Amino acid sequence: MPLTARIALNRPLRRLFDYSVPEGVRLVPGQRVRIPFGRQQAIGLVVQTGVEPLPGINLKPVIATMEDWPALPEETVSLLSWASDYYQHPLGECLFTALPPALRRGRKAEEKPVEWWVACGHGEALPANAHRQRALLEWLNRHSQGAAGSDIIRAGFTRTQLRTLCDRELVKSVSPPSPHSATAEPEFLATGPTLSGAQAAAAEELASAGSGFSASLLYGITGSGKTELYLHYLKQNLGTEDQALVLVPEINLTPQTVARFRHYFGTRIVVWHSALNDGERLTTWLKIRNGEPVILIGTRSAVLLPFTGLQAIIVDEEHDSSYKQGEGFRYSGRDLAVYRAHLNRCPVILGSATPSLESVYNAQQGKYRLVRLEERAGNATPPVISLLDIRSRPLEGGLSRPALNAIEQTLARGEQALVFVNRRGFAPVMMCFDCGHMVECPRCDTRLTYHRRDRAMRCHHCDYQTAATEHCPKCQSDAFKPVGQGTERTEDILATAFPDTPVVRVDRDSTQRKGSIQGILKQVNSGEPCVLVGTQMLAKGHDFPNVTLVVVVNADGGLFSVDFRAPEQLIQTLLQVSGRAGRGTKPGKVLVQTCHSDHPLLKTLCEGHYLDIADQLLSERDEGQFPPFRAMAIFRAEADTMEKSLQVLDVIKPLTNAPGIETWGPLPAMIARRADKHRAQLVLNARNRKRLNTLLTGICQELDRRKLPAGVKWMIDVDPQET
Ligand code: ADP
Ligand code: ZN
Ligand code: ZN
Repeated sequence: MPLTARIALNRPLRRLFDYSVPEGVRLVPGQRVRIPFGRQQAIGLVVQTGVEPLPGINLKPVIATMEDWPALPEETVSLLSWASDYYQHPLGECLFTALPPALRRGRKAEEKPVEWWVACGHGEALPANAHRQRALLEWLNRHSQGAAGSDIIRAGFTRTQLRTLCDRELVKSVSPPSPHSATAEPEFLATGPTLSGAQAAAAEELASAGSGFSASLLYGITGSGKTELYLHYLKQNLGTEDQALVLVPEINLTPQTVARFRHYFGTRIVVWHSALNDGERLTTWLKIRNGEPVILIGTRSAVLLPFTGLQAIIVDEEHDSSYKQGEGFRYSGRDLAVYRAHLNRCPVILGSATPSLESVYNAQQGKYRLVRLEERAGNATPPVISLLDIRSRPLEGGLSRPALNAIEQTLARGEQALVFVNRRGFAPVMMCFDCGHMVECPRCDTRLTYHRRDRAMRCHHCDYQTAATEHCPKCQSDAFKPVGQGTERTEDILATAFPDTPVVRVDRDSTQRKGSIQGILKQVNSGEPCVLVGTQMLAKGHDFPNVTLVVVVNADGGLFSVDFRAPEQLIQTLLQVSGRAGRGTKPGKVLVQTCHSDHPLLKTLCEGHYLDIADQLLSERDEGQFPPFRAMAIFRAEADTMEKSLQVLDVIKPLTNAPGIETWGPLPAMIARRADKHRAQLVLNARNRKRLNTLLTGICQELDRRKLPAGVKWMIDVDPQET
């Protein structure tokens, strides 16, 4: 009798499919196969082999294997099977996220030959108006070894320009110098500064690779030299054949970070992030799958890649909310990193100046080893934080007189200042001062924010945008003006107050153009006096040695939010942005403008000991019975009416009735309408995680059997970041 294989497909189905295995074909779990599916063919991943076929059922046979080795090695399959169960997401979709898009579509698991171009002329003969072609030719002439086609496109040129130059015989395609990655620059592998006493002590406490599984929480204050410590750790611990994974938030994967790692490890460094194209993804994926001894620096999804020789995992800025995937397979990259280290019996280091309450709690419970690094590296000292009460003080562009004075003094000393506008909870909206009307997004339950540069009003939750009007759309009054602070208005006030100093705005709008953030960083790193104005983007990871003053324009959003995570996020943001001050040799100062200078949380903030604040926040979580003291999951529903969304959750609610489980809702979500979808949620709060997991699995099976109202999408979010 032919054997049977159980196969997963890349579909949102909570089931696997059985196929018979033709004579002479041997399958192993994790292998890619081509199978008949309905009237078509599909790519599948083998999950189980040697399954006893049920009598009387005629299974279709597997058509072919895609390669004779498993695309996903055993450990990766285990990781994703566990994740599928933990996050209640269909196994097929989970497994396929570990494949690069090309392999999901059924391409061969081999690299496309690199197309390599060199210049062979100087373009005297080019027509005068062929500016871009001339620019491309000059660019290529500057790259004496030539360049890959993909790099040429990335530098802003087009295929048409290349082809035209090729027709004119000014460029030609040659085989790439091999190995082509080594041609970038002559390699200079260096070691950085010697570790300070505090760094060396911390390094000593971290478990060495090869000693089995361990999880360490590296609590290192901003500027304490965590990155330097990671580099030393990897240098010390990695064998020449080993692989390592360094997870970073998207925004921290800057050329500066990569350069720092390359400096130590040269071409052993590879990167993984959302801007790679399909070809680059396949190349990197193959390196990892083939067990090449790479050190991968990547964002969230890098944790799912098919490593075969992983010996160390580092999660930098482990508190960052971008580690949680917000849609589809809603996994936490940080939590999977810990589970992966456990599966793989290797150490994992979670590093942050403001660790998540979950991780602090795990350290308190003895699950993680707490390693402290509480001195700044080099000669830098931690910044001094003070509160500036702005009740009944006149503000200009959100800034009080004392704050402006402090900026003035900083600039006069030849130093730089950073002005941080906390977007969360605040944004400039257009308001009518006669009738009070504010313009809302027609597709979401949010107000439109006003962007003065292009006189537009935009929704920050969907892509809706419309021109700003001069008059109130409701009562036609011309007292229709922006209220609240945005970075633009603050930038204008600063430019007027300090006409001789560059004022540089850093937010999503000003950095959209490719490479513009690099330009900004270059200006700041020149050290010349300037004022930086920006949002959350400025709070993360940057090292600006000449910034000595940080002004926080508005600290109060988040103090009184209904979201139980808001206070934690506020404190983390404030400490991270404060950490940009005084990283060089000069001391730093932080002024936090607030209307609640007597709030206990802000008072503790000034003492600057994050672990004390975390204790305070944790006892609030305990009292409110929130995570990490409880396990939480949310059923989310969205439909074209709120009624339908609530209806589905009403069906689910009775199924959640179980001992030790509390259910809240169903209720409309905090932003009840987004991009014309009406969203509702049902929150489950459990004492016991295992029991919650079993309950959720049962509910999913039950819901798959039932007929639910049409046109409603429902999903489960385990360990939600947003409530
Ligand atoms: P973190 O990642 O904790 O914010 P970094 O590793 O970026 O800190 O270090 C902050 C600054 O201190 C960097 O400019 C870095 O080059 C410098 N630095 C780190 N360790 C040392 C050291 N042992 N001696 C001198 N300078 C150091
Ligand atoms: Zn009006
Ligand atoms: Zn909208």
